[in-house]
Amino acid sequence: MTKLDSRNRQSIINNLNSHRFDLLVIGGGITGAGIALDAAARGLKVALVEKNDFAFGTSSRSTKLIHGGLRYLKQLEFGLVKEVGSERAVVHKLAPHLVVPEKMLLPLYEKRGFSSLLTSIGLKLYDFLAGVKSEDQRRMLTKKQTLKQEPLLLADDVKGGAIYAEYRTDDARLTTEIMKTASRHGAEVINYCEVVDFVYEARKIVGAKVKDVLTDTPYQIKATTVVSAAGPWVDELRTINHSKKGKQLHLTKGVHLVVDKKRLPIAQAIYFDVEDGRMIFAIPRGRVTYIGTTDTNYMGSKEMVVATLEDAEYLIRAVNRTFPSAQLTLHDIESSWAGLRPLIHEEGKSASELSRKDEIFESSTGLISIAGGKLTGYRKMAERVVDLVLDKMDEADREFDECKTDLIPLVESPFKDYEEVKAYLTSVKERVSKLDLNSFYADYLVGNYGKQTNAILDDIQAGQIEIELAKAELRFGIANELITLPEDFFIRRTGRLYFFKNSIDVIEEAILHEFQVTFKWKELDLEKARQQLAMEVRSVTDFK
Ligand code: FAD
Repeated sequence: MTKLDSRNRQSIINNLNSHRFDLLVIGGGITGAGIALDAAARGLKVALVEKNDFAFGTSSRSTKLIHGGLRYLKQLEFGLVKEVGSERAVVHKLAPHLVVPEKMLLPLYEKRGFSSLLTSIGLKLYDFLAGVKSEDQRRMLTKKQTLKQEPLLLADDVKGGAIYAEYRTDDARLTTEIMKTASRHGAEVINYCEVVDFVYEARKIVGAKVKDVLTDTPYQIKATTVVSAAGPWVDELRTINHSKKGKQLHLTKGVHLVVDKKRLPIAQAIYFDVEDGRMIFAIPRGRVTYIGTTDTNYMGSKEMVVATLEDAEYLIRAVNRTFPSAQLTLHDIESSWAGLRPLIHEEGKSASELSRKDEIFESSTGLISIAGGKLTGYRKMAERVVDLVLDKMDEADREFDECKTDLIPLVESPFKDYEEVKAYLTSVKERVSKLDLNSFYADYLVGNYGKQTNAILDDIQAGQIEIELAKAELRFGIANELITLPEDFFIRRTGRLYFFKNSIDVIEEAILHEFQVTFKWKELDLEKARQQLAMEVRSVTDFK
């Protein structure tokens, strides 16, 4: 049994409860996962708890780009652009199947947006700050070239364009792979366990009171240092710690819509401006195109964040204005997701103006909290937090390594480079075609699992092939990725709810049955899971 086999859950909890840790990380998003990996790789004894599933929070609801944040140049955030921009190539190297190069088209318009000169200088600066290789540096396009590149753009309106380099990822899979890598380096990690309070000695935090959410069982974890990487929930934990003073979080919501690629058949990713001066991405991915995002202040429930009718109409309007021939309507929306940016409040600034920089808070009882930041910068954020943790530990008899996560691949059998990914994809395409599966599945499997695809394909049993493939994926996720509930599978381990929603009807009952057999569910458990999944499926198209 692997360490992250969800049938092994109780023994992970027993370990968490019976050992003393150097560091307890609260939150299983990309920030927490990154900290756990960095700390474990430097020799710390690390525990991590996540109250829902890994990547349940913002880390499964982003634009899914590993990008330098071109628009932050406008806010003169050069330090941020330099750091996250440079990180793109590093994260690509660590997981080349999961962080893939994506050329971005930036159209320029006669009557709005930036001039060609300013765009050319801005993109040059962007490439310079991030140290982009010369062959990938920005290329300015004439009107004719831009329209050839993207025929769906309105010819009357466009005056030219630019192509520049970014990377596309799957945020939830990236988080999961970092979590698995942290576990391989010795971190003890668990999902569905919530920190409900802290344990203090002499006014210093020495651990946390935790609840196993699935069984409602309380237990404790002892730790020398506790870091909260709870994203939008950081202030909740500061409240429990009686330390919510000074700077506070400011949550803004961002929505994405998914449509069939046939309804918006763009040739490559595109970053275009909208009437209100904001910029929006449209990104092709497999059989769909997704569009986003919005940026509005948010005060509602953090547990159930969904797109409203207003959000959906805003994005549809923006797309139809840029690609009038698409004539998208609300009926074209196959799926959607909405996430919260855990930003730091700045008086008098609007949602879009708030800085995306991360900040670390330390309370008098020793709670270290980190908020803000980007998916892309997770490694550098982790490095800063772990440096601080080590400073505070001050243990003369122990030596710890420097940060070395830039050299730790994020999968067990990594690809050397992107060329090897492409060669592997060709071999998987052949295998998939012999199994009578559409070639789309090869991209889906390699993008999600890398070389772990072999283990999944080897485990396919006789039967209806799409169903048997999904069951093999599920068995892999239960054995290696702590899949515990159907929504873990459909949303965060496979992305099927967002990018492949029409597969759910076909496989749903078989997947629920597999859960029932594996976890010995009673009929009542099965019905509850079925209802929960139905609610999740409804929530992505039911706009109010
Ligand atoms: P989260 O992912 O929210 O993780 C925090 C976790 O803590 C949650 O899973 C939560 O359940 C858990 N938790 C909370 N309280 C407790 C508790 N008491 N006990 C245990 N666990 C707890 N960045 C990019 O680089 N590229 C992009 O394209 C991009 N696009 C974005 C688009 C949108 C719409 C948004 C909202 C953000 C985007 N970002 C992007 C930013 C990026 O997604 C976030 O910075 C990042 O995901 C935050 O990760 P996190 O781990 O800090 O928070």
